[in-house]
Amino acid sequence: MTIKQNVKQILSELPNGVGLVAAAKTRTAEEVLEAIESGVKIIGENYVQEAEGSYEVIGNKVKWHFIGYLQKNKVKKAVRLFDMIETIDSVDLATEIDKRCAQIGKIMPVLIEINSGREKQKSGVLPENTEQLVREISHLQNIKVTGLMTMGPRFGNPENSRPYFVETKMIFDRMKKLNLPNVEMRYLSMGMTNSYKIALEEGANMVRIGTKIFGERDYEQD
Ligand SMILES: *Cc1c(COP(=O)(O)O)cnc(C)c1O
Repeated sequence: MTIKQNVKQILSELPNGVGLVAAAKTRTAEEVLEAIESGVKIIGENYVQEAEGSYEVIGNKVKWHFIGYLQKNKVKKAVRLFDMIETIDSVDLATEIDKRCAQIGKIMPVLIEINSGREKQKSGVLPENTEQLVREISHLQNIKVTGLMTMGPRFGNPENSRPYFVETKMIFDRMKKLNLPNVEMRYLSMGMTNSYKIALEEGANMVRIGTKIFGERDYEQD
């Protein structure tokens, strides 16, 4: 299967209103372009530097989402490049993004990353701390919370991911009900190649797919 065929198949199967983020880590700009020519409208990048290279070739005909771990010293570059940052998990990071966005007159849509698996080494805010984080950063003028994202633990059997998606959807609904000013619970980004069908069943309206579009990566990294 070519990248084109993969994208067409995925797009034909996704329900209306679900956004496809093509997770492009380790892929060349040419591979990413092929996905775009087949209908991909959002590119997900884990590394600022890699994104810069692809952006130079591809430009702003698609939306660019940051989906990796964002180091503070990369924020200045990231806010120029990206249309959404999906991985906010601290007041500190949100404040830095807010500050850098203020300098260039931009309001950055962000998602809160939930550590739904409660894994010590993983990024994301713990479920029980989500509300406090959202409340604290909702006051920042140059970012706008627009939803939640989660990875969940990696399993061979995608069915094992279901409880983590269910919990994240519950937090999403709870945050929505709070009706906080400057917060719009609109996007629920969850599900990857092996788990996106389960995630969709549990309410995801944005899925991040790499392997199923581009094939296996040469080396594995998170
Ligand atoms: C790599 C990655 C994906 C896509 O993973 P695949 O299993 O290749 O589909 C999704 N989300 C994030 C945050 C990633 O780093």
